[in-house]
Amino acid sequence: MAKSLVTGGAGFLGSHLCEYLLNKGHHVIAMDNLLTGTISNIEHLQGERFKFVKHDVTEYIYIAGKVDFVWHFASPASPLDYLQLPIQTLKVGALGTHKALGLALEKNAAFILASTSEVYGDPMIHPQHESYWGNVNPVGPRGVYDEAKRFAEALTMAYHRYKGVDTKIVRIFNTYGPRMRPNDGRAIPTFIPQALANKPITIFGDGSQTRSFCYVDDLIEGIYRLMMSAYHEPVNIGNPCEMTIRQMAETVIRLTDSSSKIVEKPLPVDDPKVRQPNIATAKQILDWEPRIEFEEGLCRTIAWFRHKMSAEES
Ligand code: NAD
Repeated sequence: MAKSLVTGGAGFLGSHLCEYLLNKGHHVIAMDNLLTGTISNIEHLQGERFKFVKHDVTEYIYIAGKVDFVWHFASPASPLDYLQLPIQTLKVGALGTHKALGLALEKNAAFILASTSEVYGDPMIHPQHESYWGNVNPVGPRGVYDEAKRFAEALTMAYHRYKGVDTKIVRIFNTYGPRMRPNDGRAIPTFIPQALANKPITIFGDGSQTRSFCYVDDLIEGIYRLMMSAYHEPVNIGNPCEMTIRQMAETVIRLTDSSSKIVEKPLPVDDPKVRQPNIATAKQILDWEPRIEFEEGLCRTIAWFRHKMSAEES
């Protein structure tokens, strides 16, 4: 039976990945230091084939016995988190990736790095194809995340080219779904609780910047297919359905039947103006494309937040 290690397994994406792998019959170890993740994301997974290990992956990783797959997802991911945790973000992208790759080498396991569309920075090319090298400000506040991931990609390719590790790199575009933290600063988990409470919806700038949102189930399916493939170059996984932040906020208001009004807040430094994945590689190599329409995914996410908020009130 396959054995998987998921670093960052108590986070938003990591917990969905653990669940997916358990459903595929894997033994799963979720390793996390709970910096931005929480046990409540994984407590429903407890069972014979699932184990949680509290550990900081910037330190040496010890696992007894075989490991077949290493899924390296540990890292603060929302702008609010990584701006508050700049050193931890750089450390987990650099030292954490080094330790996770070292384990993959030792165990002869396949490895996948959760990279990000942020490696493209504020892009000069639109939509973004994997061949684009990006437009990142290394010394701006967001550089701690963008450059950590760019270093992590370089390290991953070095372990592939010079040590023969079976590595994969997924460049994840904005993803949403149940288990996002309401206070993590990302647009969807900020807007939904605001709309459900009929409070003002706070957008950055005039909201004309665009994003492309992928529902979490689609993303995890794409990542699984990439891990099982023999492709070693980076692959974009995301939903090309692009919209402005203002359009997205209006959709949240409509689907929650809210009386909230949209208010503008100052635009963060180096905020990307546009973001849309070119997913031709994923279609060709993985026969993958997203299936869940934005409004369908949003309704599922709203239902989860509604349930969570009413449970907290009672
Ligand atoms: P998250 O914050 O919910 O999860 C990250 C997890 O990593 C948390 O549980 C945190 O406690 C853990 N972690 C952080 N540092 C650690 C360390 N040193 N040792 C052990 N655990 C540590 O974020 P997420 O949205 O689930 O993102 C997961 C991964 O996907 C990240 O690597 C992120 O960069 C990448 N990603 C996510 C998105 C997205 O839209 N969610 C987009 C692009 C890339």
